[in-house]
Amino acid sequence: MDLKGLYEELLKIHGKLEKWWPGSSEEIIISAVLTQNTNWKNVERAMENLKSKCESLENWTLLECVHMLREDLPSLIKPAGFYNIKSQRLIALLSWMKQYEFSIEKISEKSTYDLREELLSVKGIGKETADSILLYAFEKPVFVVDAYTKRLLKRLYNTEFKDYDDYRLAFENSIEQDVRIYQEYHGLIVEHSKKYCNSKPKCNSCGLNNSCFQAKYLQNL
Ligand code: SF4
Repeated sequence: MDLKGLYEELLKIHGKLEKWWPGSSEEIIISAVLTQNTNWKNVERAMENLKSKCESLENWTLLECVHMLREDLPSLIKPAGFYNIKSQRLIALLSWMKQYEFSIEKISEKSTYDLREELLSVKGIGKETADSILLYAFEKPVFVVDAYTKRLLKRLYNTEFKDYDDYRLAFENSIEQDVRIYQEYHGLIVEHSKKYCNSKPKCNSCGLNNSCFQAKYLQNL
């Protein structure tokens, strides 16, 4: 089973997920920073705080508002943890967006390569966060790699790469460049990893066990 086959198998197991990352592009940009090192429930609580604060400031978009809230950001995003560092990262990211008047459309006009380079030059924005923003907020065809992806590849194929970009390119070179497919595929990997291939893998009930290196290895012990 190659990486294209894996996508098809995951679709059979979990069904269609479509976009997977919830929210508008503006919300995705903020939640991509908030989700670093925490779970989604905590991100939702922090997002609720930000949205309800910003709803009372009617003349501002969510991004403009969060950029303006600087002083209040740590307390508002506290539920997401690491709130001081995440506040600094959000401010850095939104200060970069300010040069484009916080316009998703204007930023989306840039090439994928240029936009990725710009995002990676923002302090505190690493490759996983940059690629999540590129794929889900700006709809650029970049495959997102996270710890779940690396673990699944290791268990399924006994494969490890040295660099983040080697993982990304393995997917991008195997699957046609299609934003919807990349969005869905990453979501399927996360869902599968949470449900079956977690820290205590449930190989007996996992639909990939016939093609999985680790499951076969364990069977032969
Ligand atoms: S068979 Fe086990 S190790 Fe392999 S993908 Fe499924 S849960 Fe993970």
